[in-house]
Amino acid sequence: MPVIELLPENELTLEERRARLEALMQRVLACRLCQERGYLKVANPVGAARGRVTDRVMVIGQAPGHHSVEKRLPFAGPGGRVLQSWFVRAGFRPEDFRERIYLTALTRCDPGRNPRGAGDRKPSAAEQALCRPYLDEELALVRPRVLALVGGLAVQVFWGPAKLDEIVGTYREQDGRLLLPLPHPSGASRWLNAPEHQALLAKALEHLAYWRVKLRLDQD
Ligand code: SF4
Repeated sequence: MPVIELLPENELTLEERRARLEALMQRVLACRLCQERGYLKVANPVGAARGRVTDRVMVIGQAPGHHSVEKRLPFAGPGGRVLQSWFVRAGFRPEDFRERIYLTALTRCDPGRNPRGAGDRKPSAAEQALCRPYLDEELALVRPRVLALVGGLAVQVFWGPAKLDEIVGTYREQDGRLLLPLPHPSGASRWLNAPEHQALLAKALEHLAYWRVKLRLDQD
């Protein structure tokens, strides 16, 4: 199994990257763009992202849900606990999920419930476009080796159109990063109910376990 080469060092110092990430977080907290444009009744970007510039794995989800907003913590709901258990299956310590993995999302405000079904509303293309510069800046500052794409929308944005059945369990090297598609861990997704899909997830976690060791993803 090939392992990507280490990326060239970022020209910014570690301290400069930390300072810029902190400044970015402050700008996100102040953002009300989707509210001003009428896409959200209330923008509340408090629970979408948390991590360090030294993190080597970045988890990218769709958007924070109400649990995350209430706790001001990404992946704070039941789906987050399932996701954490997947990382433990790949050999990470439970605390690594919040201490060594950068957790973020395509958009940073709770989009509310899906008016036509279960789960949360998918942020519109306009909301995604407004919010994307924040994620791009995080990617540039953190420079993760592994992008774990959680759920259909994150997969679609970074991988392209694909059925989960065909890509969960595979990975791709792209722009110096390893892209790992994962299903959404929340109970709203029934994809994981099928045994054959559980087998695909197990394969994906095998890749993650291999990279954890080879790329020292859980080391400073
Ligand atoms: S979703 Fe992103 S762009 Fe829209 S208001 Fe929230 S932080 Fe700003």
